[in-house]
Amino acid sequence: MSLQVQLLPTSSGDHTQSQPLTTYRVNRTIAIDAGSLGFALSGVELATIEHVVLTHSHLDHTASLPIAIDSAFTHLTRPMRVYAAAPTLAAVRKHLFNDEIWVDFSQFKIPGTDQPCLEWVEMPPRQSIVLDGVRILPIPVTHPVPTVGLIVQTESASVVFTSDTWKTDEIWAEAAKLPNLKAVFVECSFPDEMEKLARDSGHLTPRLVAEEAAKLGRQVPIYCVHLKPSMREKLQQQLAPYADRGIAPAEIGKIYAWP
Ligand SMILES: [Zn+2]
Ligand SMILES: [Zn+2]
Repeated sequence: MSLQVQLLPTSSGDHTQSQPLTTYRVNRTIAIDAGSLGFALSGVELATIEHVVLTHSHLDHTASLPIAIDSAFTHLTRPMRVYAAAPTLAAVRKHLFNDEIWVDFSQFKIPGTDQPCLEWVEMPPRQSIVLDGVRILPIPVTHPVPTVGLIVQTESASVVFTSDTWKTDEIWAEAAKLPNLKAVFVECSFPDEMEKLARDSGHLTPRLVAEEAAKLGRQVPIYCVHLKPSMREKLQQQLAPYADRGIAPAEIGKIYAWP
């Protein structure tokens, strides 16, 4: 079974490489984060997403989840499952699906069925889950709210997603052990001169990405995401010298695939 990863645009028809919101589509049925999920995909296509794995509660990773389930629910044939660590699930349920900002779709049935539209599934850190043949292992990273990076594996390929993080060790150490590691999607939010803000807000800079990637002890493609849109050009300039180490911005919309 192959592994495919697509960084979704922030909204449908957005052909820029601007990325204020984060969602990856993994194969056909899995989404990692829901920043742009409900803005980038339409109802029928959204209904093919059976599993939404949230790395943390921040709005750029959860903003479109209420819209996604609302767009999808009449097309669903089974519940959309949302997986996250307990504090993230609690935050999303309390602050988004609280019957004030949005209704709690786990309380509603898919039309014509006895199944709920949405199911909340706790995903404890360091315990892997298997979704449609894809194994996902959440590893805590360094961010102001509880956050996990994800190690995503099929039998033949492993890809790592750091999510939002400052310098962190465990996920890089786990990644270094993977014999079939194909790529790391790492965040790179701020330019080098804003390193203090990066540290205070739990993010990385190009220089720090290179430092972190060196923990792998070998070269694999390092795709940078979460580039703050207003600083994208500067970040691209600062990442350019690391191209020979395989470090470059990820291309939004492109399907990265490994057999
Ligand atoms: Zn964040
Ligand atoms: Zn973020």
